[in-house]
Order: sequence, then C-alpha cells, then structure tokens
Amino acid sequence: MNREFGIQHPVFDIMKNSAKLNTTAKKWITQHCGRYALFDEPMALHTTFRVGGPAEVYIEPPTLDNLKTILSWLIQNNLPYWVIGTGSNLLVKDNGVQGVVISLKRCYQCSIELLKRKKYAILNVASGVRLQTLCQFAIKHGLRGLNFALGIPGTVGGGIMMNAGANGKSMGGVLESITVHFPREGRIGKAPVQIQKMKIPKSQLKTDYRHFSVFNVQCSTRPVIIESSLRLHYEKPSRLKKEAMEILKIRRLNQPIKSLSAGCFFKNPTGAHKNAVGTAGKLIDLAGLKGKRIGDALVSHRHANFIINTHTASASDILALKNLIQESVFKRFGVTLEPEVEIIG
Ligand SMILES: Cc1cc2nc3c(=O)[nH]c(=O)nc-3n(C[C@H](O)[C@H](O)[C@H](O)COP(=O)(O)OP(=O)(O)OC[C@H]3O[C@@H](n4cnc5c(N)ncnc54)[C@H](O)[C@@H]3O)c2cc1C
Repeated sequence: MNREFGIQHPVFDIMKNSAKLNTTAKKWITQHCGRYALFDEPMALHTTFRVGGPAEVYIEPPTLDNLKTILSWLIQNNLPYWVIGTGSNLLVKDNGVQGVVISLKRCYQCSIELLKRKKYAILNVASGVRLQTLCQFAIKHGLRGLNFALGIPGTVGGGIMMNAGANGKSMGGVLESITVHFPREGRIGKAPVQIQKMKIPKSQLKTDYRHFSVFNVQCSTRPVIIESSLRLHYEKPSRLKKEAMEILKIRRLNQPIKSLSAGCFFKNPTGAHKNAVGTAGKLIDLAGLKGKRIGDALVSHRHANFIINTHTASASDILALKNLIQESVFKRFGVTLEPEVEIIG
C-alpha cells in the first residue's frame, strides 16, 4: 500500500479494529519488558496536563532492540499500540487508552552525534532526546537553527511529528531526514513480522503549520520515528546564548509555563481567516474568555490559548471548556478553532 502517514493519520482506527490484551499478551509483555512495563497505568502521570485515565499497558523501552521486539510482537498479534514522547501535546480522556502506549523518552535519550561539514553541520539525534537538551547542545557547539524551539517541552520525535515551532519557524525547516521503524509488508499473520529500519530523505517529507507527513512509503501502520538528521549552520555560541535568553524571557512573560497544560490548545486560523482575524489566542481573548473556568480547567489569564489544569481538573472539565471556547468563538467571529492538542481515548 502506498500512502501518506502523518499526525493526521487516524491512529485510533487501528486501535478500534484490534483485539484487546488478554492474559497471554500481558504475560508476554511482563517477560519481555520487565519493570519497563506498567499495567493500568494512569496517563495523568505521563502527560504535562496531568490528566487522563489508565493505559492498559504503558511501556518505556530502554533500547531500540527492545522497542523492535515489542513492535514486531504487537503487529504480529494485531494488538493496538500507540507511540508517544513526553505527552506534552496530549489530552487523554478520563476513561483512558485501550492497548499499549509506548513512550520513547527513555530510549537512547542522550544520543546526539555531530558531523561537521565545511559550510554546515549535521546532527543525528535519537527520538527520545529532549528538545531542550538538543537546543542547549546546539548553542554550546555554535550551531544556529534551533533557537526557535527553546522552551518547547517534549522529545525530538514528538517535535518532528507535531512539526513543533514558534515565531514562524519549525522543525521542518532544519530536517534533513528521518529514520523510522515499520513492519515489512505482507508479513502480518505469519511469524515473525520483520521490523524494517528505513531512512526517509527530506524530499519525501512534507511539513506545514503543525503538520508533518511522509509520502511514497510502503506501509500499513504508522511508522515510529527513531532518529532524525538536522542541518544547522555555524554561529558564535555567545550570540546564540544572548538570543536564547531573550527568547526564554519572552516565553516566561507571555505564557503560563509553570502551570499544567499542553501548550497552545488551538491552532491559529489559516487560509482565508488567517490575516482577517488574528491568532487563536486573540480570538479567545476578544470573546471575553480569559479566566473562564469549568471545574479546575481554566483559560489562562496570561495567554488565552492556554487551557490550564489549576489543581485536579479532569479531562472532561478540559473538554467542556474546549467546547465552550469553540462555540463562543464561532458565534462571535464565525471561525471554527481546531485543536492543536491531540485528544486521545
Ligand atoms: C508549556 C508548553 C509550551 C509549549 N509550547 C509549544 C510551542 O511553542 N510550539 C509547539 O509547536 N508546541 C508547543 N507545545 C506542545 C508540545 O510541547 C509539542 O507539540 C512537542 O513537540 C510534543 O512532544 P512530545 O514528545 O511531548 O510528544 P507527545 O505529546 O508525546 O506526542 C505528540 C504526537 O507525536 C507522536 N509521536 C511522538 N513521538 C513519536 C515517535 N518517535 N514516532 C512517531 N510518532 C511519535 C505521538 O503519537 C503524538 O501523535 C508546548 C507544550 C507545553 C506544555
């Protein structure tokens, strides 16, 4: 099958069509993942919103080999799985997630390789590396191109999948290639499913505002990004550091970074609405919703596009507030705000 995969891909269609985990499946997971697998694990512990019901199984594979073994077995058995980073762009519903959630945040979390060329440098980065670790590495080694990502939480894999960005720049702007794990076609149902490693060049990657996809790849499930190559340019570390301090200062002033959230909840309007109406935050503010609260979910006073969990909000509180925002903004401006945060469960 020749198709495009990306963040818009309906992951949960895969999950809906799959079998539930039985005792044999849980036994296999315990044997192969040991302490790295947690059963009925509250996703509230693995998302920055700190809300969300339990995942049937939550696994943090310590190595790529372990990840490969798990993926191969899950696909072989047609079991539902879903790969995440640090859950900083996720809202998991209160009833939780059926199937296996796999976080790559432990997998090679320190692996960054620097290759110096004459005019530019290439960084090969494992997906589990934190975006902030990568930004600091680039500054220390005098490499320009990643300062826009300062202050964005999460892993590099999650950042690529979301095409994370700020101030008009995003991960897509520095991407050279990604390396993915995916099952070899035609093997599902026969033992064993082979997990292939494949490097996909920039020419097959499509990035847009909070959108990432790959085309011309033979694949029936959503591939897992395990590594990426980024192209950066040389710059004086002192200049980068100075710029970084300014960027972080502006973030601290304009965003409720110490509160529990998943960052901006809605995408900014695009297309015909883009220039006419302004950002999602501006529309929410003009609709008079700053400070609006449902349960412990609150529209931030500092930045209207942030919904924050002030204490013990449930996912239902946050979803109710999201609906209220969408209705109010539509009524007032005729604009439908689309969530940037992924809603799961
Ligand atoms: C305070 C705050 C500020 C923020 N500011 C910004 C901002 O300025 N700009 C911005 O763009 N975002 C921002 N965010 C949102 C979020 O941090 C980013 O979207 C981030 O890139 C998500 O990374 P993650 O590792 O947490 O991914 P997750 O939230 O865990 O996952 C996001 C998506 O990526 C997929 N995914 C993750 N890893 C992989 C992988 N290895 N292979 C395949 N799929 C994968 C998941 O399935 C999911 O679909 C902010 C969030 C917070 C809490």
